[in-house]
Amino acid sequence: MDIPKDKSFPRDAGQCHGCGGNGCKECEDKGWLPAGHAGIRVCELEVCSNPLPPGHVAVYCSNECAHADAAGVGSNAKRSPISVRHSNLKRVSDESDYKSHCPECKKGVLVVRRHPKTFRIQEVDFCFLCGQQFIYEDIDVLRSREE
Ligand SMILES: [Zn+2]
Ligand SMILES: [Zn+2]
Ligand SMILES: [Zn+2]
Repeated sequence: MDIPKDKSFPRDAGQCHGCGGNGCKECEDKGWLPAGHAGIRVCELEVCSNPLPPGHVAVYCSNECAHADAAGVGSNAKRSPISVRHSNLKRVSDESDYKSHCPECKKGVLVVRRHPKTFRIQEVDFCFLCGQQFIYEDIDVLRSREE
């Protein structure tokens, strides 16, 4: 079935968790909810929890998340998020301004995540390998580079 039921949604809307886009009381039969609404369906990978766009049919926001869930993200996923400055992290290579080595496990990579629909850089990132969550203290600097 084609979701969401009502196609005239704003760019940053999310899929209604209650009905998965098919329409219910919660979303007033539209299948989507405005950005920031607590009833928005999120990525099934717990450490990710990205909001899913209204027309998204998979339960994960990305293939990376599906793979990570299947492989089992590390035990650090249960720890509290750590505040870091992106500018202080060690970049994986000169080719990317964003990808950094995970400061916790040193083997994983922090890719800098984006909202699946608006592509806005997200404050919370995590390591697909050890599962540790990070919060970028300098998120404004990161975003200002491209806004
Ligand atoms: Zn609904
Ligand atoms: Zn995800
Ligand atoms: Zn890690």
